[in-house]
Amino acid sequence: MKLITGKTKLLGIIGAPVEHSLSPVMHNAAIAELGVDYIYVPFPVQEVDLTQAIRGFEVIGVQGFNITIPHKQSIMNFLAEITHTAKMVGAVNTVWYTESGWQGTNTDVEGFIAPLKEIAQDWSQATAVVLGNGGAARAVVAGLGQLGCTKIHIVGRDRQKLQYFAQSWQHITEISRLLTVHHSETLPQLLPAVDLLVNTTPVGMYPDLDRSIISEELMEQLKPDAIVYDLIYTPSPTKLLGFAKARGLKTIDGLEMLVQQGAAALEIWLQQPVPIETMRNSLKQQLFG
Ligand code: NAP
Repeated sequence: MKLITGKTKLLGIIGAPVEHSLSPVMHNAAIAELGVDYIYVPFPVQEVDLTQAIRGFEVIGVQGFNITIPHKQSIMNFLAEITHTAKMVGAVNTVWYTESGWQGTNTDVEGFIAPLKEIAQDWSQATAVVLGNGGAARAVVAGLGQLGCTKIHIVGRDRQKLQYFAQSWQHITEISRLLTVHHSETLPQLLPAVDLLVNTTPVGMYPDLDRSIISEELMEQLKPDAIVYDLIYTPSPTKLLGFAKARGLKTIDGLEMLVQQGAAALEIWLQQPVPIETMRNSLKQQLFG
């Protein structure tokens, strides 16, 4: 059991709900391994209480925190500086305190691309298809842009939301020149040219175990060297990744993104390398026993 003293520095996560967050397990495992005098605490904060909570954090000297639903956008009103990455995504998931006030970024982007960088350094010829156009898709698009992908196709089920999604990137030329949006009807035509297929929808997430966003037959359309990446981390594998594995395709599940976004945040707060393996194992233990 960690000894908490008057000098122990506070980190945490704010959200509503926050009770089921996996972040405390992962961060406190890393903190214990490093032997640094920090503790990471879940803070339930309702939307109406955000201003008071942030002021309170300043008063009690919270060093930094993660942000989850519903504060990922509204937190921006409290920040002195926001990274270009977070501005592109339109959401902040990590904040830290400096002399000039709170600063924020979005480590989901780094978390998403970390396992892709392990697979290849050069993505400049890669065509990606992203299934879904919600919040996670925004971090994925920013990540694919950072990787240097040549084309990003967004596939969704709602034409109006797809148009909004495309418009929201219009002023970011580094992305908008790569991005096209498509209704899901056209997915079969896109698949044969795909190098990376990313599922950002919750289809197939626990307890919805028996569903996949694309069918086994459609999976046959992918090239044999295509990579299938599902942001979902429970179950592992999802039905989608099961189809991809059965075809012999390379797969990535959402656990690594979760670990890597957490590691990137902890590195910002502690300003030192963090034990990623410990973070990964603590999450696996928590999720799968
Ligand atoms: P979100 O903002 O609600 O977006 C979900 C997207 O999926 C929307 O575009 C939605 O379409 C689409 N969708 C939902 N149900 C669908 C269905 N039955 N058929 C087709 N499309 C459907 O959610 P999010 O925050 O982006 O999260 C999405 C998933 O990513 C969740 O499973 C979440 O756990 C996962 N995630 C994982 C990580 C990680 O670290 N591994 C990080 C973030 C998110 P409409 O807009 O048309 O409804």
